[in-house]
Amino acid sequence: MRIRFWGVRGSIPTPPSSYELRDKIFNAITIALDTSLRPRDIPSFINMLPHEVKSFVGGNTPCLEISHGKRILIFDAGTGIRNLGKLFTPTPSKDHLEALENLDHDPKAERAAPEENVQPTLRLDLILTHTHWDHIQGLPFFTPIYSRNTHLNIYGHEIAEKKRYLEIQQSDPRLFPINFDTLPAEIVFHEFPATGLVLEPFTLDSLKLPHPGGSHAFRVRAFDKTVVFATDYEISSDAPDAHRKKDDLKEFITNADVFISDTQYSYRESHSKEGWGHSSALNIVEMAVECGVKRLYLFHHDPGYDDQKLYDILDKASSFARLLYPQSTLSIRLAAEDVIIDLTEE
Ligand SMILES: [Zn+2]
Ligand SMILES: [Zn+2]
Repeated sequence: MRIRFWGVRGSIPTPPSSYELRDKIFNAITIALDTSLRPRDIPSFINMLPHEVKSFVGGNTPCLEISHGKRILIFDAGTGIRNLGKLFTPTPSKDHLEALENLDHDPKAERAAPEENVQPTLRLDLILTHTHWDHIQGLPFFTPIYSRNTHLNIYGHEIAEKKRYLEIQQSDPRLFPINFDTLPAEIVFHEFPATGLVLEPFTLDSLKLPHPGGSHAFRVRAFDKTVVFATDYEISSDAPDAHRKKDDLKEFITNADVFISDTQYSYRESHSKEGWGHSSALNIVEMAVECGVKRLYLFHHDPGYDDQKLYDILDKASSFARLLYPQSTLSIRLAAEDVIIDLTEE
């Protein structure tokens, strides 16, 4: 089972600034001054630099891949899904170019019938936590939907409503030039079953999360490993059924090997943003330790935080865990674009 982060930012895409880049160059040169770096050693020197010096945490909005062999589960269609799509269609496909050429056609026209005997060769499963814009805005730029070779299953709770919002964002050329109903890919919507779902080799179940407009967490199991993806939620102590909601979530994440959680705000900022539907790392760390989680990934980073602030939040969360729970073996990490976790090797 392999996990890959394609988008980790919350709310709005956040390209890194030139100031951030300069900071990273400064830090890299500072480290280089302590070495006798020769030009031919530069590639290996860059490789050994810490992640926070040589990479950006990333500004794309949520998209997560969990895969094994040919089974590819995609969670959410934030702007990160665009880069994932490039793996399957590195250049615009013939169907994509045709869709662009046919822009003048009646957008309500029926989807072109697939050529006889042509079966989609790429099957993808997209699971939506909810339809806040940061979780669906990448779909129009996901190139596999412009290919007749793609069969895309889209799962979610209250799927008819989710379908309606995906259609709306591609419903009018004044919003986006290509109409959802004319996409060449075979797209099938499925209600996420209350009893859970099996997409071999994965078994999935879900939990409703407290978030304005609603959101769902998903638990994915395979090969004796458990991964929980819970983004966009806030368990406010003021809510009338806060205890029950927290207990439900604690049961859901118990003994997870990997828990990917919304930790949008710093602890201080979370107080001024109560009711906005997001969490802070310190509260989540406490819960993760109590529930025997092995590895926690901080996710859905605030668009106002640069990398330095995010690593500061990570440091504080790790110190907090060490101080309050010295026996805990919880590992805390930042979800960052292109981080790959290979659980089959563990
Ligand atoms: Zn979000
Ligand atoms: Zn949301």
